[in-house]
Amino acid sequence: MAKPKIVKFRFPESLEEMPLGPSAVAGILTEPNSGWRVQRPVLDHSKCSKCLVCWVLCPEGVIDKSKGDLEIDMNYCKGCGLCAHECPKEAIKMVREGEDEQ
Ligand code: SF4
Ligand code: SF4
Repeated sequence: MAKPKIVKFRFPESLEEMPLGPSAVAGILTEPNSGWRVQRPVLDHSKCSKCLVCWVLCPEGVIDKSKGDLEIDMNYCKGCGLCAHECPKEAIKMVREGEDEQ
């Protein structure tokens, strides 16, 4: 399924640009991840056994397995922590946004 496009928000500059009806256009995000993620997953590839449990369970479908090592698309990951909670190898840990990985 196609993901919403990330389109930077700008205020309307004329009456014609004001939205009619709903105030938000469907199919876009004005910021990556809507800007509300407080934690993000960090994956340690040296611990990962590629069992794909996280890939199966991620509710957003943002874990990519097509390039060998798993990659998490941070533009769309919502930081729910399910992948870290369920990883049998403890290869994923959650860190607060803005804090360095330890
Ligand atoms: S659940 Fe853990 S070990 Fe399994 S693929 Fe994901 S990160 Fe790797
Ligand atoms: S934190 Fe949640 S949304 Fe992000 S990759 Fe893990 S399971 Fe998916």
